Amino acid sequence: MTSEIQFKAWRVEEQDGDYKGAEQTLGTTDLPAGEVLIKVSHSSLNYKDALSASGNKGVTRSFPHTPGIDAAGEVVESATGTPEVGSPVVVTGYDLGMGTDGGFGEYIRVPAAWCVPMPAGWEAKTAMIYGTAGLTAGLCVQKLLTMGAKPEQGKVAVSGASGAVGSVAVELLAKLGFDVVAISGKADHAEGLKELGATEVVGRDALAEDKKPMLKPVFANGVDTVGGSPLAELLKQIKPGGSVSCCGLVAGPQLQTTVLPFILRGVNLLGVDSVEISLPEKEAVWIKLAGDWKCPKAEASAKRIGRADLDGALKAFLKGESAGKIVLDHA
Ligand code: NDP
Repeated sequence: MTSEIQFKAWRVEEQDGDYKGAEQTLGTTDLPAGEVLIKVSHSSLNYKDALSASGNKGVTRSFPHTPGIDAAGEVVESATGTPEVGSPVVVTGYDLGMGTDGGFGEYIRVPAAWCVPMPAGWEAKTAMIYGTAGLTAGLCVQKLLTMGAKPEQGKVAVSGASGAVGSVAVELLAKLGFDVVAISGKADHAEGLKELGATEVVGRDALAEDKKPMLKPVFANGVDTVGGSPLAELLKQIKPGGSVSCCGLVAGPQLQTTVLPFILRGVNLLGVDSVEISLPEKEAVWIKLAGDWKCPKAEASAKRIGRADLDGALKAFLKGESAGKIVLDHA
């Protein structure tokens, strides 16, 4: 056991129902019990971190709290011996950054069963360019492929395309040869989405509410990162036998639809969870993202920020104004 280490963390406190984040100095004895102490060099920003930092009790019940559902760094102490001290690891999901202090601090202490070995050829900052959002994009694409999605079937829609999950999904699908239609509310990101590989960029009105229970089938498959009524509209526009991977709720958690797309066109709605799936399932997708599924454009365009920039960057998520991948560098 090493003696207590002092470190910096971006910690959120509750004051009269208001939630404010600021840098604080903590000690490793302030961290929860766990098997593995990790010195975190990088984290990644996600919509869920913005929910946690703004006091959303569905994500984080008690404060003060250090958000950050993603962390990458080096093992400093390991009660189980695996992972080994000195080895680089990635931790995403489970309870990290929700009830357990997360990657917005320079140290985390977690169960060994949450730690994925760093994929070969990756540094911590590369892993955190992808983070939970990249992992989720990979899982969404993998589910479509498992259902038999193929480029020759036609267009694939990606909603919330400029977001953290959406941007990686656009680049990955384009790389795999799919004809990607990026659906985005940010007209000024159309060029960027085309650079990621989208063949077409359309506004959110492509999924505007329509009373008809079925619409002309336009897309062979889809990746939906927004949920709510846009997802219901997307399902009405999927061709027979097509699938939609669904992972998000920025447009709302409710899904009001009819069974018609499912029973008349055999459409498949595929739920994607990146948080509680097994470590081997996560690791398999990480290895792909570090290999054949590498997304160099998302990597090159990722923004790097420090702890002092977290407040503004997290608020942009809640306003739907965040775009692309954002990495927190603790250096
Ligand atoms: P971002 O905020 O980066 O991206 C979401 C994008 O959705 C925005 O950039 C915007 O894109 C679009 N958008 C925002 N608000 C609305 C709205 N009201 N209606 C329609 N579109 C909207 O978030 P992430 O990419 O990090 O996450 C996306 C979703 O996926 C979140 O709900 C998140 O919680 C969820 N998620 C789920 C995971 C899982 O395991 N299931 C894991 C990771 C994320 P544009 O302007 O281009 O339209």
